[in-house]
Amino acid sequence: MTEPTVAVIGAGIGGLTAAIALRAKGIDVEVYEAAPEPRDSGTALGIASNATKVLRSLGIDLTTDAFCSALEHFELRTARGRLIRALPGAAITAELGHPFVSIHRNELIRTLRNAAADTPVHYGAEVVDLGIERCGVRAICADGTEVRGAVLIGADGFRSAVRSVVAGEQATSEYGYLCWLATVRFSHPRMVPGYTGHYWGRGQRFGLIDIGGGMAYWWGTKNMPAARARDWNGGKADVRSAFDGWAPEVVDAIERTPADAIVSVPGQDRPILKQWGTGPVTLLGDAAHPMLTSRSQGASSAVEDGYVLAEAIARISDPVEALRAYEDRRRGRAGMLVRSSRRLNRLEQTQNPIACAARNFGMRYAPMRSLTRNTTRPMRFDLGWTA
Ligand SMILES: Cc1cc2nc3c(=O)[nH]c(=O)nc-3n(C[C@H](O)[C@H](O)[C@H](O)COP(=O)(O)OP(=O)(O)OC[C@H]3O[C@@H](n4cnc5c(N)ncnc54)[C@H](O)[C@@H]3O)c2cc1C
Repeated sequence: MTEPTVAVIGAGIGGLTAAIALRAKGIDVEVYEAAPEPRDSGTALGIASNATKVLRSLGIDLTTDAFCSALEHFELRTARGRLIRALPGAAITAELGHPFVSIHRNELIRTLRNAAADTPVHYGAEVVDLGIERCGVRAICADGTEVRGAVLIGADGFRSAVRSVVAGEQATSEYGYLCWLATVRFSHPRMVPGYTGHYWGRGQRFGLIDIGGGMAYWWGTKNMPAARARDWNGGKADVRSAFDGWAPEVVDAIERTPADAIVSVPGQDRPILKQWGTGPVTLLGDAAHPMLTSRSQGASSAVEDGYVLAEAIARISDPVEALRAYEDRRRGRAGMLVRSSRRLNRLEQTQNPIACAARNFGMRYAPMRSLTRNTTRPMRFDLGWTA
């Protein structure tokens, strides 16, 4: 393998964005990915306005992708489908100047991979260890090959091997719920273009989202002991029974989804790191700051990381100083998003009937201005760099 200036470990959303942003600055970068080929995913995700703003600045417009839909209508409903509150999704994102999109993961990765153009992405390169040397860093792959770079970026996700070297082994933080998710060809009168519906039950919620091309993305959660969520081995019948009696479109979306298309993930994040790097090594995205899904900011903040990292490396001649400057700029915002996701998750997963009633009442009657402010705050991101 060659020796780039920057070695990015992980060709996920964060790693590829970093590679695109670095390449746009004329910096030599190569990406090393454990999987033998681009990973195939059956799910989708929301990319918030802060991230679409970054991607736009890198010349990437997700709204032209086939399985991608910009948020127009956001509706909050009870489990049985009664409207709690409708939020003007299109007006809110218009105020931010950039859309909130829901997109199939395969489509997003394909678009990022295309934008990375001739940046080398080495598949089948699973990094298992690192050695910091006088003039850079050396990573050792599972097959014995070595990767070198002046700096190394651990963009290797939730179970990051690079994080283990930087911060040691850490237990996951578990939140006692399971999330099922899938994409499916689906139509329903309620699912107009740009529809996102969140249905709130007791210790359970469901999201039904248009991703364009006649496809829907759905996710459903259910509280359960953390160990059961972690070792989940149930099937579609359990999902069906968890949402029995919910709004017809919820039941219908589950019904139409093939059993083997349903993925399950326990509700987890990790303790907030004080230090993201050491010497010529740093972390990015889930490797640095995994977060619960409530704010749709895990991938979106990884996109921000990639952008800021490239700015730092391009502006600061000493690579180690550049990595520390990147971390200083990102730690506060990432920590805020982790904590904010935890707070919102607590509210959303609450099981107590009185707390649920108060939550729904609060959402129904809260002033629109404060709802809009709370929704847009995490999505505000400044592309500028001040010394
Ligand atoms: C149920 C669910 C719903 C979500 N919904 C949203 C959402 O709506 N919006 C949002 O913004 N975020 C969402 N997220 C979070 C989002 O998926 C992650 O934050 C995002 O994928 C992080 O990107 P990343 O590039 O840091 O890591 P990843 O996407 O995990 O990519 C890491 C890459 O590194 C590779 N890798 C791993 N180990 C190694 C190794 N040792 N050597 C080399 N390569 C390695 C992996 O194969 C992978 O390709 C959701 C997460 C879950 C679980």
